[in-house]
Amino acid sequence: MFRILSKHLDEMHRHALDDYPDECCGIVIGNSDDNASDTMFRCTNIQNKLHALDPTAHPRDATTAYFIDEKDLFRITREADDQGLVIKLFYHSHPEHDAYFSEEDVRRALFFDEPAYPDARYLVVSVYNKSIKEQALFEWCDTAKTFNQVPVDTS
Ligand SMILES: [Zn+2]
Repeated sequence: MFRILSKHLDEMHRHALDDYPDECCGIVIGNSDDNASDTMFRCTNIQNKLHALDPTAHPRDATTAYFIDEKDLFRITREADDQGLVIKLFYHSHPEHDAYFSEEDVRRALFFDEPAYPDARYLVVSVYNKSIKEQALFEWCDTAKTFNQVPVDTS
């Protein structure tokens, strides 16, 4: 079972509250061999910027969508590469929504119908009225060709 260190989960919850009522997003990198979160990074959600620049292409604002700043993604990917690590987890929040993996979330996680980040799981944190409700972890299932909710160890 994938383990998210409690200090990381606490930090993800804090991030979700800090960015509320917008969605927050971030990344965890680590060794592909073990089953735990190692180093986590908050990322900047640039969805509001995209929405302001081109509301037709980006109809949602940051209250219902996230887009990781490419600068963050690039920096973190390079840092992982340099240390022989991989992206193990993407997290984002759902303000005023439950912790499900939306169609948009699935679309974002795929690249030509295959997972864009094969080592990555996805954690969704649900926030209602400025308080954390729950979280859920999703993992690619190669047989079903979809993301399934899987249990997570947050001890
Ligand atoms: Zn989502």
